[in-house]
Parts: sequence; C-alpha cells; structure tokens
Amino acid sequence: MGSGQVTSSVPSGTSEFQGKHVTVAGLGVSGLPAAKALHARGAIVTAVNDGDDARAREQAAELEALGITVRLGDGATLPEGTELIVTAPGWQPGKPLFRAAEEAGVPVWGDVELAWRLRGPDAAPWLAVTGTNGKTTTVQMLAAILKAAGLRTAAVGNIGVSVLDAVLGDEQYDVLAVELSSYQLHWAPSLRAYSGAVLNLAPDHLDWHGSMDAYAADKGRIYEGNKVACVYNVADPRTEDLVREADVEEGCRAVGFTLQAPAVSQLGVVDGILVDRAFVENRQKNAQELAEVSDVDPPAPHNIANALAAAALARSFGVPAQAVRDGLRAFKPDAHRIAHVADIDGVAYVDDSKATNTHAAEASLAAYEPIVWIAGGLAKGAEFDELVANSAKRLRGVVLIGADRALIREALARHAPEVPVVDLDRTDTGAMLQAVTEAKRLARPGDTVLLAPACASMDMFTNYNQRGDAFAAAVRELGA
Ligand code: ADP
Repeated sequence: MGSGQVTSSVPSGTSEFQGKHVTVAGLGVSGLPAAKALHARGAIVTAVNDGDDARAREQAAELEALGITVRLGDGATLPEGTELIVTAPGWQPGKPLFRAAEEAGVPVWGDVELAWRLRGPDAAPWLAVTGTNGKTTTVQMLAAILKAAGLRTAAVGNIGVSVLDAVLGDEQYDVLAVELSSYQLHWAPSLRAYSGAVLNLAPDHLDWHGSMDAYAADKGRIYEGNKVACVYNVADPRTEDLVREADVEEGCRAVGFTLQAPAVSQLGVVDGILVDRAFVENRQKNAQELAEVSDVDPPAPHNIANALAAAALARSFGVPAQAVRDGLRAFKPDAHRIAHVADIDGVAYVDDSKATNTHAAEASLAAYEPIVWIAGGLAKGAEFDELVANSAKRLRGVVLIGADRALIREALARHAPEVPVVDLDRTDTGAMLQAVTEAKRLARPGDTVLLAPACASMDMFTNYNQRGDAFAAAVRELGA
C-alpha cells in the first residue's frame, strides 16, 4: 500500500459548471438528476440517449421543459462544444462517444464522480462498499450499525437512492453508507472515500470491462485516497493485492476480515463470536467482542463475512462495539436473499433467487447440507464446473429449469454423476410449481430445498423477484 497526500486538481463546488457545455449520456435513474443538477448550476446541458422509447420521451419532455437540449436515438455522436461528459454508469467505455471524447480531450465522469464533486465542504464522509456479491447486504448492515450508533445516515448508491440525490437533497447526514458497482467506480476518478471495502472478486461483467484485470482494477479504485481503513477479504487475496496497489492517505490502515480467528489488524470469528483485533487499544494483546454469529440474519458463512466487513467500516468511523451488535440485530435482509420461506414435513424451503451468478450460488450452497438444489436460467456465458465440483457432496438432488440448464446438467454429469437430476424441459412461468414438486419428492426430513439458480431469470421471469415469488407461491401451494 503506498501513501501520500491526495490532491484534486479540479475545484469542487458549483461555480466550475457555470457556462460549461456538458453532455449527459443516458437518461434514466442517474441521468435525469444529473442533467437537472448541472443545469441548476449554470451548465449548458445536452442530454443524449441511445433509445427513443416512451419512457425516454417522457424524461426528455421533463428536461426540455427546463430548457435542456435532448437528443434521443443518438448516443454515439459527441455534441459540438462538449467540455465534459457525465455518463450513466452502465455505458461501456468502448462506445464511440467516449472514443470521440478521448480524441477531443474531453473528460468523462459518472454519476458518482459528479456527486463527489458537488458535495458541499461540510459533506458527510463516505464509507464505501464494492465486490462481486454481497454489496447491497453489506451496505444495509452498515447503515443499520451506523444508525444504532445514533448517526444520521442512509444506504445509497447502486441500491435505489442515487448518491446524487443523497448529496444534493435537504437531509443532513453524518456519514453515508455507499454501494458502488464496478461501472460506477470506473467512472469516478477523484472519489476519495473515508474507508472502503472490496468484499470479494469473481469474474463478472467481463464483456464490459474487457478483462478480469480491468474489472479488478476498477473495483480497486474504491481504496484510492482512503483516510482510515482499506477493508479487504483475507480469504480472497486479490482484494488485499488491490489494497497494496492503492495510493491512500498517510496513516490509513489495511484491515482484513476473516471467518477464522483474526490476526492483528483483522476482524474475525472466535467460538461463534465476531471479534475485532483492528480497532482496539493494544491490538497485539487485545480483542473486542462485537456480536454473536447468531445476531446475523441469516448466519450463513458468506453473510457473516458481509457482517464483518460492515463492522470493520463502521469501527473505522469510531462506532462502539455495542452499536455493531444492535445494528446487526436490527438488520433484516432484502427479499430473495436466502429467505426462509417455510418448513414442510421437516424440509426447509429457502429462496435465494438473487443468486444470479455462480459465485453467489456457491456461497449459498455452502450454507446448507444436504440440499435439493433448484438451478438454471440464463447462464450469461458462465461455466458451472467449479460450482458443481465444490458443492457436489452437499447435494441430495437437483432440479433444473430454464434455457441454459443443459450446461449445469453436463457439469453435474462430470462432477456429481451419482446425484439424481430432474431436468424440466420447459421455460414457462408455471414450471416453478413443477420444479418445487419434484424437489419436494427428492427431499428428506432435515434437507433444505434451495432456489439458488446461478443464472439470470429473464428466460422465464421478468426478474429475480418474480422468480423468487413464484418459488414461494409454489412452496405455499404444496404446503397447504
Ligand atoms: P450485490 O448487491 O453485490 O448483488 P446482494 O447483497 O444483493 O449483493 O447479494 C446478491 C447475492 O449474492 C445473494 O444471492 C447472496 O446469496 C450472494 N451473496 C451475498 N453476499 C455474498 C458474499 N459475501 N459472497 C458470495 N455471495 C454472496
């Protein structure tokens, strides 16, 4: 980990936008508030958008009413005179608009960068979280802990409330719990969080970033300029590598979290207790008890890891141990994330429809045994060998659904040939009832029927919420 004072060459505040030609790329969740905020600060804004659908037109009308120029159906050409682009985070760096910007020497910021630049001089510091999986959960745990400490805070970012809204709104905060995606980090070059955490790193969104190295590097930006702690996952050494590569403020520390007993400067678990050996006096000798594993809902290994990361960030902000426990007890996970639906005839039915990639599904499968696993959907180019090989011994049986189920079936044949597999040759929404019926048939008392598809849902459902709801409805129907 390097060190050194971080300086920003561009002044923050409002005046820098007066009379400046700014192109806002992409309408929608971040584009609309960005265009309005820039316009309100005197910028001459042109909003461009690839699509030209009804929603885009509605948003365009809203901006045009303010006097903002909007170009629908053309997000590729750089408007003449552009001095700055503020882009929606999902826009790929390879797009022609950005190539043109690079040639013209025009800087590109994302919504997070804009929020960072627009925050006032007394703005709340940011405790920032990224990672392939567990971001939302960790940020919500963090916000619950900060609230339990009596701090004014909110969970914001890639999680519903945009950072821009949080920064520009009337609400006063002491500290923000910020979820950041790899896209948002890519477009946020001057962000300097108070403390940052990378929860884990598994291949994801590689078509967007171009390579695993580029993806990791974008995630690693969360550590740039950290003041107090760079929080990393001891079990995922790549996260620690990213800490080493970051340029942070003098005195900022690397703090690990682990499911094992913690070494010095780590948070970990000892005899079912979450303990802190980082933010304590005389950490060579002392450890501080924070909470019990049973205070974490659900107490699955990956979720304990999330709780430790949240605790580390909160403790870096000076939050007392008691608030960590109270906050974790107050935290309730969002729907479809390892949600216990029902117990029927001694079998637990668990909905982790949000496990839309193999890394998430593997964490989920590690939390139970024996399992009847319901899996399948849209694979998005994923391979299933590692997931199946690592989980094979826990499987009582498997029920496969969805468009790409053959990929999982083939991996099962290679690594778990003895496990019974029911392959449902249908992709209609009603297939879920049949899937749960088959799972019920395979399960024995003490087993868990786990929906952790390792795939996206759009081949059969509108989204993962609808998939999870269909699972829960089927379970209730069978239990009735
Ligand atoms: P994100 O916001 O990063 O998508 P969520 O908290 O919404 O993360 O969880 C998404 C999925 O990832 C859930 O299905 C959950 O089972 C899984 N998950 C949560 N935390 C972790 C973790 N630390 N490691 C691996 N998988 C995880």
